[in-house]
Amino acid sequence: MMTLISFLASFLPSGEIILQANYYGNGQSSTQMGGTVLIWILFGFIALAGWIVQAQLQSRFKKYSSLSLRNGMTGKDVAEKMLHDHGIYDVQVISTRGHLTDHYNPMNKTINLSEPVYSGTSVAAAAVAAHETGHAVQHAVGYAPLKMRSALVPVISATSRWVMWVILLGIIMLQTFPALLWVGIAMFALTTIFSFVTLPVEKNATNRALAWLSNAGITDVSNQSQAVDALRWAGYTYVVAALGSLATLIYYIMIALGGNRR
Ligand SMILES: [Zn+2]
Repeated sequence: MMTLISFLASFLPSGEIILQANYYGNGQSSTQMGGTVLIWILFGFIALAGWIVQAQLQSRFKKYSSLSLRNGMTGKDVAEKMLHDHGIYDVQVISTRGHLTDHYNPMNKTINLSEPVYSGTSVAAAAVAAHETGHAVQHAVGYAPLKMRSALVPVISATSRWVMWVILLGIIMLQTFPALLWVGIAMFALTTIFSFVTLPVEKNATNRALAWLSNAGITDVSNQSQAVDALRWAGYTYVVAALGSLATLIYYIMIALGGNRR
């Protein structure tokens, strides 16, 4: 257990200090308080970063949604051309409800594009459509991190229903039955691992999208940088989510270590 925790905590230098202070410390309350203050500062920074990324993402997509591609291709056209250019003919491009709900579903091999992306002819629509098609290409070529992410999905959906209850009960019963909180932490660690496995998958889909958009001549010198910018900010949302999950995991570990020592 500690190996996994140390590994996860190594993502954040301050997290490791907190853990070691709590684990090896001799019950100095000042160290513990320092750790608690640090983790709340960390939560504050992550919340602020999340807010900035959301605001930037909204404003960029608004801006790039009003800039049309010269060839007049819709998001659907872009996705289908990218699929065919990669020799993929068994994936369907369909329209789905909502805003920013675009995703690739490997279960039924469908690229689901939100209405503004599906029928839109903007740089933003082309970038999002190509990114989702990037996931379909990953699936077709058996890209390893995507396989790992897909394997984690059923595990995550099974544990996500119980994890918060186990942690809550674990905190309540910390003095009488400390093992329960560790079970909750192990369950929560799976979602943290999932959010970190998502990062290379997202980055790779964006790289595939941008390379193809440029090579296929969908974007030109003037609007390629706009596609790059739009997808970069979309990618940052996953980074913030992963860091938020890691900070939460560290927080639960601090509670468990603090309770064990008393
Ligand atoms: Zn994606």
